[in-house]
Amino acid sequence: MNTLTLKPGKEKSLLRRHPWIYATGIDRVEGRAEPGATITVRAADGRFLAKAAYSPHSQIRARVWTFDENEPVDHALIKRRIATAVAHRRQWVSDSDAVRLVFGEADRLPGLVVDYYGAGRGAEQAQLVCQFNAAGVEQWKDAIVQALIKETGCPNVYERSDAAVREREGLALVTGVLAGAEPDPELSVTEHGVRYYVDVRNGHKTGFYVDQRDNRKLVGDLAEGREVLNCFCYTGGFSLAALRGGAASVVSIDSSGEALKIAEGNVGLNGFDAQRATWLDADVFKSLRQFRAEGRQFDLIVLDPPKFAPSAQHIDRAARAYKEINLVGMQLLRPGGLLFTYSCSGAIGMELFHKIVAGAATDARVDARILRRLSAGTDHPMLAAFPEGEYLKGLLLQRV
Ligand code: SAH
Repeated sequence: MNTLTLKPGKEKSLLRRHPWIYATGIDRVEGRAEPGATITVRAADGRFLAKAAYSPHSQIRARVWTFDENEPVDHALIKRRIATAVAHRRQWVSDSDAVRLVFGEADRLPGLVVDYYGAGRGAEQAQLVCQFNAAGVEQWKDAIVQALIKETGCPNVYERSDAAVREREGLALVTGVLAGAEPDPELSVTEHGVRYYVDVRNGHKTGFYVDQRDNRKLVGDLAEGREVLNCFCYTGGFSLAALRGGAASVVSIDSSGEALKIAEGNVGLNGFDAQRATWLDADVFKSLRQFRAEGRQFDLIVLDPPKFAPSAQHIDRAARAYKEINLVGMQLLRPGGLLFTYSCSGAIGMELFHKIVAGAATDARVDARILRRLSAGTDHPMLAAFPEGEYLKGLLLQRV
């Protein structure tokens, strides 16, 4: 039996049901644990704590499968966890056929991300896209794929295990078909009445930012008659929602020409008037300053940048970048105008993000009030014991 014994005192976080075991807390590992193998985690006094997936190359040396000594880590566990995850989404997500079916630790499948793209069609034509971001779920890949197919009825499974975190787990970057057909290059999803193309093979992450669903809806609901600026637009998620909501005009900026091509295609896919939409292939930092110099003003601005802080050591630099775009963003708002501002950096919590944005308002010399705190949708739940899972946070501000 593989056993991992912690240093004295290092059992505390596990007793609080936090699912990660850091290398620094380990006293010794006994047995011949291969990457992804199940290992029993014990306190220094030998007490059972958890069964976990061992990841010898990662600083997160093991991720908990179960805190129950009597629960075997086997095919049945994988099936149960997938079935529970799928049932949760059936209950909680409606009005979209782009759904995060599995969200890692929150579904007790650490390191696994699965998105379902249905395109309103039968499950036969739908597409599942997976990221296996840890050694444990990598080891159980076949069982996971079979369980997903069984629970969803969707036979098409594509792998996008090309996120940089794989390298920290000692895993190679891989993409390709795991089951069924090659992804349809014309695949699209419908979210709150808006259709979006999803590029499963070459898009970012799994192809679509499912996590912003509720926030795109809110932007759509508030867009009527407004002049909108969408920064870091990717394939036009917020832009299309605003067009559907009756925005007078939408200017969208992204530095990815590929993403912008898809975004423009989305305008046609929905039959919207292309005149209302302007797409700029540019750097947001430069464009915002240029707009300010030109005296441009907007009624609704979205700032949804990439992760500026990939880890805790990047917090200071990230904070400066968040502050800069928010500062200029607020200056570009007309009085009464709305700012939707986000951070998807797990290392920056809501309190810090709030502080950064408040500091930006002070330096911009504008009065701003917070109307709402924003987050990812209910298909991205968080384990109460695992605050790291709350990566996406946002604020809806109004310039007074
Ligand atoms: N809001 C989008 C997701 C944004 S992802 C949605 O709802 O779908 C972040 C985007 O920022 C990516 O498309 C990336 O190409 C773009 N990006 C990153 N750095 C940039 C920069 N400096 N200027 C412009 N775009 C940038």
